[in-house]
Amino acid sequence: MRVFSIPLRTRFRGITVREGVLVEGPAGWGEWSPFLEYPADVAEPWLRCAEEAAAGAWPAPLRDSIPVNVTVPAVDPAAAYRIVTDGGCRTAKVKVAEPGQTVADDEARMEAVRDALGPDGLVRVDANGAWDVGTAVTTIALLDRAAGGLEYVEQPCAAVEDLAAVRRRVDVPIAADESIRRAADPYRVRDLEAADVAVLKVQPLGGVAACLRIAEDIGLPVVVSSALETSVGIAAGVALAAALPELPHACGLATVQLLADDLAAEPLLPVAGELPVRRPVVDPVALDRLAAAPDRVAHWERRLADVRQDRGS
Ligand SMILES: [Mg+2]
Repeated sequence: MRVFSIPLRTRFRGITVREGVLVEGPAGWGEWSPFLEYPADVAEPWLRCAEEAAAGAWPAPLRDSIPVNVTVPAVDPAAAYRIVTDGGCRTAKVKVAEPGQTVADDEARMEAVRDALGPDGLVRVDANGAWDVGTAVTTIALLDRAAGGLEYVEQPCAAVEDLAAVRRRVDVPIAADESIRRAADPYRVRDLEAADVAVLKVQPLGGVAACLRIAEDIGLPVVVSSALETSVGIAAGVALAAALPELPHACGLATVQLLADDLAAEPLLPVAGELPVRRPVVDPVALDRLAAAPDRVAHWERRLADVRQDRGS
């Protein structure tokens, strides 16, 4: 195994450095990068995803490129416009409901993003669970108007019951993201009719084959999203997106550029709004350059041993 440590370009999810492990198998490297606070039982499906990649057990792809969205943080309209035009994607995911900002800030950002995309582009918003049901219902109507139509709203409220309540009261489709973190969650979203779209991440849900099974079981359109992986981990998300029978929405896999460096010789970055379906080759020089310090290597070795022990018990 190799432990890597890569600085982020900007602080994200409260972290400034992304750490993880590459595990090796007959097909090459797989990435295991559960966030640091996750206990062994939560980190275990993430390891299954890495082992599946290293074993080369991915299903055959049904397409050779994956449309992806550009992500627009809660920035001012001019910056939002620039991010969208620079991104070259036909779909923009726009962060809204940022603490300290107003609905008017979000509406101005929507208008700028629509201007940048033109009438044929798709705008989705992500509230990261910030609203209560009433606020969600009124705000979604305002943002839908400002954006000239929304593709969907991601996680308007935190609780899955509240997603279901919002969904009954608005016409804009609802996507579940934070509501889906463990393997049982997508079924709960389905059973409560809480969402029109399921955001699936391969590491937390146990790998590509596991996600394909979930997608088939829940019968909802899937948006494959990243957990802020290097190109090695993103390739697993790409493998899922490539193997899904239907892929009606752009995926959230264009996140390698959030890292200041990468393990692959040719990073999985979008070209004209699409990621190529290929397995990146790990660059041995990059592995050395991005190797974690000895104390962090020891930490990850302990963590891996804990997960394996937890499995056995
Ligand atoms: Mg989200």
